[in-house]
Amino acid sequence: MVKVVKFGGSSLADAAQFKKVMKIINAENDRKYVVPSAPGKRSSDDIKVTDLLYRCYETAAKGEDITEMFAMITDRYNTIIKDLELDLDLSETFEKIKNSMIHKAGRDYAASRGEYLNGLIMAKALGYKFIDAADVIFFKDDGSLDSEKTNTVLGDVLKEHENAVIPGFYGIMPNDTIKTFSRGGSDITGSIVARAVEADLYENWTDVDGFLMADPRVVKNPCTISKITYRELRELSYMGATVLHEDAIFPVRTAGIPINIRNTNHPEEAGTMIVAKSDGYDHHKVITGIAGKHGFSVINIEKDMMNSEIGFGRKVLEVLEKEHISFEHLPSGIDTMSVVIATEALEGKRDRIINNLYAACSPDSVTIEDGIALIAVVGRGMKNEKGTAARVLKSIANADVNIRIIDQGSSEHNIIIGVDDEDFEKTVNAIYAEYVSE
Ligand code: ASP
Repeated sequence: MVKVVKFGGSSLADAAQFKKVMKIINAENDRKYVVPSAPGKRSSDDIKVTDLLYRCYETAAKGEDITEMFAMITDRYNTIIKDLELDLDLSETFEKIKNSMIHKAGRDYAASRGEYLNGLIMAKALGYKFIDAADVIFFKDDGSLDSEKTNTVLGDVLKEHENAVIPGFYGIMPNDTIKTFSRGGSDITGSIVARAVEADLYENWTDVDGFLMADPRVVKNPCTISKITYRELRELSYMGATVLHEDAIFPVRTAGIPINIRNTNHPEEAGTMIVAKSDGYDHHKVITGIAGKHGFSVINIEKDMMNSEIGFGRKVLEVLEKEHISFEHLPSGIDTMSVVIATEALEGKRDRIINNLYAACSPDSVTIEDGIALIAVVGRGMKNEKGTAARVLKSIANADVNIRIIDQGSSEHNIIIGVDDEDFEKTVNAIYAEYVSE
C-alpha cells in the first residue's frame, strides 16, 4: 500500500507541530511520499511564511531594504531546526534566496521558497530524499499544468525512491522560471504526486476533523461528513465550503484515488473520505451536506406567449455571453424566465444588459432583484429516498422563510434553494435540524 501525505501550513507552523507530523508519518510504513506546505500561523495573529515572502517580494520590487523582513522568515525556519535538534544549516540557502529576491527573481519564486525550505527541513528530519518540485512539476507556456509530462517525469523519478519529500505549491515554466499554483496550491501538488505514484490513498492533513456538514459559522457544532463523493464535494465547494483546493480533485479523480481529510491535531479521528463512487449513505441523514453563498441577483424577464417563441432563451443568454457573464441557474415559467447571477458580475453592466435584453427579445418587462442567497442541499442519498424535497421545503416553511427559487439538479444530487439574504442562516439551520437532530 502506498499513501501520499500532504500537510498544511498549520500542521507545520512550528517544531511542536512538526513533531506531531513526524509521529503520524512514522506510525505507518505506507506513508511514503510527503508534500509539505510552508509554515502557517502559530496563533490567530501570526503571519504565514508565504505572506511574509510576498511582502518581501513587494518590498524588494520597490527597491527597499528587505533585511529585517527576511530575518523574520529565516528566524521561523531556524527556530524549527533548533527545536527539532536537526544537524542542518540553511544559511547559504537563505543568502541565495535573499539575493535572488533583491535581484527581482519574481513573485512566484519568492512565494515558492516557503515550501522549498520547509521541504528541506522535513526531508532532513525524516531521513527522506528531497525532490525539488521544480525538477518534476511542469507548467505549459500558457501557465496551465502540463499534467502528462509531470505525471511521466514525476512517476519515473519517484520510482527510484522508496520515500521522498516533494515541496508543495510550485513547479517550473518552460522558460525555467518558477511558477506557483494559486493560494492553497500544495493540495494540488499532493494530488499530482498521488496520481504519479499510483497511490492507494491521498491523505490531506489539516487542522479540522474533516469536511463538515455545514459551515460552523452558521450551524453550531455541525457533524463531520465521514464519506463524500467527488461530485458532492464539487457541489459543496462551489457553494462556498472550503477545506481542499478545488483543483486538487482532478488528478486523483482521474486515477480513482480516494482522498482522506485528516486532522494533525486529532490523528485518532477518521476524518472525511472523498471517494469516486459510493453506493452507501447514511439513511438516517440522506443529505451529505449543506452549503450556501450570499450575493446573487435574479434577472426576471417576462413576455406574453414566451413559451411559443423559439430561440427566446438563446437570445437572453447571448446578451449575457457578450458581457462575459456566466449564469448559475435558469428557473423558468410559461411566460417568465429568470437568470440567477452573482451580483458582482453585474457591476457596471446593469443598464446595458437591460437595454440589450429589450433590444434582443422585446420582452414586456425586465427587472433585476438583488440580495438573494443560494443554498445547496447535497446528497447522493436523495436519488433513492422519496420526499427529500418535501422535507427540505417543509422545514424552510416551518422556519417562516419565503423561498424565492427552487431548482433540483437532474442528477438528483442537489436541491438549490434561493432565499432573501437575511433568511440565509435561519434556512440553513432549519434544513440542518430537519436532517440531523432527529
Ligand atoms: N503556502 C501556500 C499558501 O499559503 C500554499 C499552501 O499552503 O498550500 O497559499
